[in-house]
Amino acid sequence: MSVLIVVAHPDDEVLGCGGTGAALVNAGIKARACILSGAALARSNHPGDQKLSDDTQTAQKILGLSSPVLGDFPNIEFNTVPHLQLVEFIESAMLKYKVTTLFTHHPWDLNEDHRCTSLACQAAARLAQRRNDLSGLQTLMYMEVPSATDWGFDNARDVFRPDTYFDIESTFDTKLEALRAYRGIMRPPPHPRSEEYLRALATVRGGESGKLLAEAFQCAFRALRPSDLV
Ligand SMILES: [Zn+2]
Repeated sequence: MSVLIVVAHPDDEVLGCGGTGAALVNAGIKARACILSGAALARSNHPGDQKLSDDTQTAQKILGLSSPVLGDFPNIEFNTVPHLQLVEFIESAMLKYKVTTLFTHHPWDLNEDHRCTSLACQAAARLAQRRNDLSGLQTLMYMEVPSATDWGFDNARDVFRPDTYFDIESTFDTKLEALRAYRGIMRPPPHPRSEEYLRALATVRGGESGKLLAEAFQCAFRALRPSDLV
């Protein structure tokens, strides 16, 4: 099993999947992030490209994730990039690391880079069905990223519907530590990128699933094996 967390921006992988990623690594499963905009040139309050690159590497180490795949697609301008380029970039990472499980953004996040990333992942997820020399993907999950998934308006479009939960009681503090490694991204409450909001969300998702703290996902695709049902 090899897990790839495909996100638009540095910090999305921690916000949406940090607790789960750290728990997977603790269980001996290889997981890494694929961050499509390595250099966040248009992002306000960012501490500079080199610092952001350092912060990204530090956050991956705190979570225990393998070395990330970093793209240089233009931040906040993914809608100017040909869809195929995003798809092929993700496919190349999937092939290189023999990925069996993909986590990515929900297709109706408010942030357009997130939506472009999700659509590209959906296309890349069909790679094995377009070639006959690969084994198929087993799992595609959409994650929720506070200040993007929750900021999408829910009229006239689809919304995040959590149906899959991962216990992060043992890794929630690691998730917060990894977020703190990204200088300048956390905010005071009531902003969704505050520690108070993140703990409240993890508590709610835990309550929905019988855990103290959890991350929630929406399953887009799952190929079950007999061992998954026991
Ligand atoms: Zn983002």
